[in-house]
Amino acid sequence: MSQSFFQPISGMDLPRFAGVPTFMRLPHVAVENPRLAEVDVGLVGLPWDSGTTNRPGPRHGPRQMRDASTMIRAQHGITGVRPFELINCADLGDVPPNPVDIQDSMARITAFYDRLIAANVRPLTAGGDHLCSLPILRSLAKTQPLAMIHFDSHTDLFHSYFGGMMYTHGTPFRRAVEEGLLEPSKVVQIGIRGTCYDSEDRDFAKSVGIRVIPIEEFHARGYQDVMAEASEIVGQHPCYVSYDIDFVDPAVAPGTGTPEWGGPNAFEALQVAQALTGVDIVGADVVEVSPPFDASGATAYLGVSIMFEILCNMALQAN
Ligand code: MN
Ligand code: MN
Repeated sequence: MSQSFFQPISGMDLPRFAGVPTFMRLPHVAVENPRLAEVDVGLVGLPWDSGTTNRPGPRHGPRQMRDASTMIRAQHGITGVRPFELINCADLGDVPPNPVDIQDSMARITAFYDRLIAANVRPLTAGGDHLCSLPILRSLAKTQPLAMIHFDSHTDLFHSYFGGMMYTHGTPFRRAVEEGLLEPSKVVQIGIRGTCYDSEDRDFAKSVGIRVIPIEEFHARGYQDVMAEASEIVGQHPCYVSYDIDFVDPAVAPGTGTPEWGGPNAFEALQVAQALTGVDIVGADVVEVSPPFDASGATAYLGVSIMFEILCNMALQAN
């Protein structure tokens, strides 16, 4: 165990605009590297958006998010947590997808995460579109169905698109429930809003007991109260955290394919992730950051800032 190996490069030693941009300036440890066994939380890029039904681009997310993440420093500004001193973190590189074959990509992704689980590494992933979560869950939920806290403006619980297409970024959690990867009574979806084709997704949620907290309820109650309920729903059950950047208002985070107005501001977007204290996070993702729609780069920076909030909580739980 070499603590110094897993430290991010400080901006005091090498200016933050210089060097090869890994996630949060951490060392790159490929999955073949024996040092994988020393990693507690692995940051993973999943550059894949073949499940996108409308405006594509999240395949470019991980590269942009790595660059933006060089702005992240070692210590949390509010809590003072220094995650890289509590656990070993590393950039595990990108999962290699097959952009022209959804089934092959999903098999590759699940196989990649299987290697992390075998090495006792908890993954924190930068997507990719939201279909990414399904093959990750197929790996993480092999031994038991997981709880899930899901931030999104969409439920992603639809049955199918385009006449029977089952694998899109609008359907991953419908498949995950069908495949027994999630325990529906321990799943909460926060921030749901926008126009829709119909209510088929919400009807499904109700029928299996998934708790949906729509945006009007989020704003009426405030994030503290909503997150207290979310923590209660998942309890101490092993929990996946899935964070679609379109949860955040598009005035703040325009760089995404399916924006919906009326979402949380940037402070609330970070606070809900900070409020995950005490949740047993076995894996997490931040998905749907789409650089082609992110002219200023603000969305990518918010995405990696959310990843840092989640990482701080994963570090606190491990200690
Ligand atoms: Mn989504
Ligand atoms: Mn969404």
